[in-house]
Amino acid sequence: MFSRVLSGGICGIESYQVLVEVDVSNGLPIFEMVGYLSSEVKEAKERVKTALRNSGYMLSPKRITVNLSPANVRKGGTAFDFPIAIGVLSGFELIRKEQLKDTLFIGELGLDGRIYAIRGMLPIVIMAKKHGIKRCFVPKENEKEACTIHGIQVIGVNNFEQAVSFLFKKEPIQYVEKSSDLTELLKSSDYQEDFSEVCGQERVKRAIEVAAAGFHNLLMIGPAGTGKTMLARRIRSILPPMNLEECLEVSKIYSVAGLLSEKDSLVTQRPFRAPHHTVTPQALAGGGRFPMPGEISLAQCGVLFLDELPEFSRNSLEILRQPLEERQIKISRLYGSYNFPAKFLFVAAMNPCNCGYYPDMNRCTCSARDISKYLGKISQPLLDRMDITVEVSQMNYGEIYNQKKGESSIIIAHRVKRARAIQQERYKGLGFETNGELSAKLIETYCFLEKEETALMEKVFNQFKLSIRAYHKILKVARTIADLEECEQIKSIHLNEAICYRTLDKRYWGR
Ligand SMILES: [Zn+2]
Repeated sequence: MFSRVLSGGICGIESYQVLVEVDVSNGLPIFEMVGYLSSEVKEAKERVKTALRNSGYMLSPKRITVNLSPANVRKGGTAFDFPIAIGVLSGFELIRKEQLKDTLFIGELGLDGRIYAIRGMLPIVIMAKKHGIKRCFVPKENEKEACTIHGIQVIGVNNFEQAVSFLFKKEPIQYVEKSSDLTELLKSSDYQEDFSEVCGQERVKRAIEVAAAGFHNLLMIGPAGTGKTMLARRIRSILPPMNLEECLEVSKIYSVAGLLSEKDSLVTQRPFRAPHHTVTPQALAGGGRFPMPGEISLAQCGVLFLDELPEFSRNSLEILRQPLEERQIKISRLYGSYNFPAKFLFVAAMNPCNCGYYPDMNRCTCSARDISKYLGKISQPLLDRMDITVEVSQMNYGEIYNQKKGESSIIIAHRVKRARAIQQERYKGLGFETNGELSAKLIETYCFLEKEETALMEKVFNQFKLSIRAYHKILKVARTIADLEECEQIKSIHLNEAICYRTLDKRYWGR
C-alpha cells in the first residue's frame, strides 16, 4: 500500500515542502530510505521502527520503502521521524488516507514514542499556510511558536500515540489560544534601557541619533570607562518599533537557531547582539553541518555591537565586509549554499591605543609604534565602511557636577521616526528605506548639492584626500542630518557635521 504524508524542511531561514512517500509491499522484509538524505535522516528508520513498537504497533514483516522528495535538496535533521512513522502506519492501512489530507506532520521521535521539539518551526508553519495546508501536527514544545501564525490549525502532541488518537478523534483536540494582536504587541515593546540614564556625552548621543535615523554604521573611540557600552545598549530604544514583516523575519531566524522559547515564541523587540571579541568567524557568520544563523544574522533588524574592535581576529573582522555591503551573508557548503539575512546597524567601540589615552600625550604611555600597531588591526576597507566615527571622552568635572537627567529615548525616537518617514517616502518603490542603504548610483540624484556646498566638498575632498567611498559616506550622512531637520536641500551646516564624523579617523589613522 502506498501513502503520502506532508512535511517541511529548512533551507537557510526558509522552509520548503517535503513529501514523505511510503510504500509497503510483500517481499523481503527491509526498511529502505531514499531521497538525498543526511545520515541523521537515514537513521530515522531505527527510531521509527522502535518507536512504533513501543507505541503498541506490532507490524508484520514487509518491505518498506520511504522516499523524501524533492530529491534535489539534501535533507538533514531528525524532524522527518514523525511524518515517516505516520506514513508507515498509513502504508499498513492503519490510518486512512483521508485522515492525512491537507495535514502536515513534523517532529523528532524518541525510542519510546515521545515527540521532541525541532528547530525552525515558525518558517515551516508559514510555508504550510502558503501551500494551503489546513492543519499541522507539531511537537507540544513547539506548539506556542507554531500558533503565532493565524489561519492554520496547530495540534501539539507529546507522543506518537496521542497523535494517532487525535487522528481518530478518540481524544478531543484542545487548541491553544492564538496570541493577541501582534501589531499591538510590537507597538508596545518597551526596552529596559533608556538614554535618560546617560548623563552628558551630548556629542556622542547626537552622533548616535544620526546613525539611528539614517541607518549608518558607527564607530566610537575613547578610553575605557567612558560609557561606550552603555550608550550602544541604548541605541535600539530610539529605533522605530519593528513592523510585522520584520518581526516575522527576525523570529524565523531565531526559530531556526532554536532560540525561541515557549515564553517568547516571537521576537518582538529589535535584537541587540554583542559577541565577545573571542568569537570565532563561524559563530559570527553562521554555518555548521546543519547551517545555523550566526551573530550577524541574529542581529537582523537590530544592533550588532562589537566592543574592543581591534581585539577581534582579523578573519572575524573581514567576514563583516560582505554583509555590511549586501545586507545578507552567503554560506557555501558542499551540499549547497544558504543565504542568511544580515541587515543590522553596525556599532563598534574601541580604545584609541593599549592604554586608552591617545591622543592625550600627557597621559598616554604607549610608544608611537605600539599605537600604530594597535590601530593597524582595523583594516582600511573596514574603516571605509564606517559612516560615522565619534570620540567618547571622559567627562570633565563640570559635566559630572552639573549632572541632570539626559533626554529620554522616547523624545529622541520621535525625531528618528520623523526622519525615517521622510526617507521612506523619498525611496518608495526602490527596495530600500534609509539613506545608509543609498547606492553610489543614486547618490547624485538624492544628495544633490548647490554651488556653495559643491565648492565646500571639493575643498574637503582635496584637503583630506578622501576616497570615493568616504566622499559618498559624507553625502549620505549629511542627507540624514538634513532629514532630521526636515530640510529638503543639503546645506553646508549639514555637510560640516558629516565631515567631522568622517574625518575623525584621519586624526587616528593619519591616512
Ligand atoms: Zn596609550
